[in-house]
Order: sequence, then C-alpha cells, then structure tokens
Amino acid sequence: MNPLTCAQALTAARTHGLERLDAQLLLLHALGKPGADRAWLLTHDTTPLPEEAAQCFRELSLRRAGGEPLAYLVGSKEFFGLELQVDGRVLVPRPDTETLVEWALQQLALADMPASARVLDLGTGSGAIALALKKTRPALDLTAVDASSDALAVAAANAGQHRLPVHFLQSNWFENVNGPFHLIVSNPPYVADADPHLPALRHEPLQALTAGKNGLDDLRRIIEQAPAYLQPQGWLLLEHGYDQARAVCELLKQRGFAEVQSRADLAGTPRCSGGRWPDPAAGTGSQTAG
Ligand code: GLN
Repeated sequence: MNPLTCAQALTAARTHGLERLDAQLLLLHALGKPGADRAWLLTHDTTPLPEEAAQCFRELSLRRAGGEPLAYLVGSKEFFGLELQVDGRVLVPRPDTETLVEWALQQLALADMPASARVLDLGTGSGAIALALKKTRPALDLTAVDASSDALAVAAANAGQHRLPVHFLQSNWFENVNGPFHLIVSNPPYVADADPHLPALRHEPLQALTAGKNGLDDLRRIIEQAPAYLQPQGWLLLEHGYDQARAVCELLKQRGFAEVQSRADLAGTPRCSGGRWPDPAAGTGSQTAG
C-alpha cells in the first residue's frame, strides 16, 4: 500500500469528526513540528507521511475524537503569551482566565501597591496565573499553592522552564500559608457536582473542577478565610462560573469586602468578581482607591 499523503491523513481525521485546526496541529505534532508551522502543511499536501508519523497521527486523532483535550495530546497550551507544559495532572488553562490576570495586573498598578507586592495564587494548577503575573511584573513576590502535589510538580516545571521564581507550597487553600498578602487571586473549582457539562471535561482532574451542589463550596471557603491573609486595602479576585457573579458578589459583601465588582471575559460573561478588604484605621477603606 502506498503511504498516505499529508492531505489524505487530514481528510481521514476529519471523517473521525476532528476539527480542521485540531487535525492540523496533531499532524504537525506527529511530524515533530511546532504548531506555528501550519503554513508548511499548506505547501505539502502531496508529501507522503513516514509510517511512524502516520501511526502516531492515527493514535492521536482517535484520542482527540474520544474527547481528550488537544493540549494534553500535544503536551502544551499557550496562556498569556507563555507556553505551558500540561498533562492530565492539571486543568488546561482557559483563555477566560486571562481576564483574571489582566484584572490582577490593573490592581497591582494602583498607586498604593508596592512593586514588590506579595501575591498569592490559590489552586495554581499548571501555574498559569502565578507565572503570567510574575512574567509581567518580575518584582512581585509570588506564592502559589495547590492541594495536589502532582499539580505542583507541573507548575514548578513550568516555572523552571521559563525561569520565573515563584514560591510553591502544598496547601489545601490557606492551610499552610503565611500572610499577609497585597493581592490574592484564585481560579478555584466552581462547577456543580452534577453539572451536565462534566462528561465533556472527564479527562481533566475532577478535583480541579467540582465544588459541591451548586459549585460554590470552595469560593465560599476562600471568601470566608481570605481576610485573615490580606493586608488592609488588599484585594481578593476570584474566577467563577458564568452564572455565579451575583452569588459571589453577595458572599463578598456579606463577609465585609468593599468595592465589590465583577469583570467580563471575552465572551461578555461576568467571569470574575472581587473586592477590597477595608483598612479598619481608615474608616471606609476606599479613600486611597484612586
Ligand atoms: N472554566 C472551566 C470550565 O467550565 C472550569 C474551571 C474551574 O472550575 N475553575 O470548563
């Protein structure tokens, strides 16, 4: 049998139900080429595939058709301009989470924030948020925790690869953390235990996804405990589900946070909410907000 050409292999993958872009990226991966080389494919329709690459591509296509995230299959995901290594030990970083990073950077640019502000990332997973912040503001003093030692191994490897010094610590939320911090950020699990979207996420760690009956268990716990770890005037910024902004804002206000507000992701969905812990000495806590 003649070897398959690149174009024939891509067509075969499409018949397995793969998206065109996914098929292209997997074929490049099977050929040992970076994802940026898509132009190469356009000019090599009739190039025969070496048997080893064809076999590898077939296997990857079947796994993708079975729902494995593309990022796990190619072993990396771009987040905030950083190429991060990911596998089944961590959640795949989502573009939505860049909203949280951008908001955190805005708060860190406020006049009353020192350049070397202490920042805590709770539930760091692949390290995405902590590393994006550290890359953009190298003077920050970043601590990143996760309850999973597997996740911390992935995060520490990413930090090493990008030479971004971050203190990593195994901790179930605040358990082993020493405050206070100028800013606490978190993308905690927030999917409801019985959410109908969960089967589509079955290849990712459940521990990083679900949080009780309505998905609010971890958000509630973080909001409850955060004040003990915040500087006066410090910020707590949280990612949450598409329909949780109102509940999270309510929890923040009930706990005593000021300047409670939400930010929308690229799709216009309120995706993050946060607030400022008031300075008891300053009365209202908002005088220096700028
Ligand atoms: N945004 C993710 C999803 O719904 C969930 C991430 C999380 O629970 N923190 O696919």
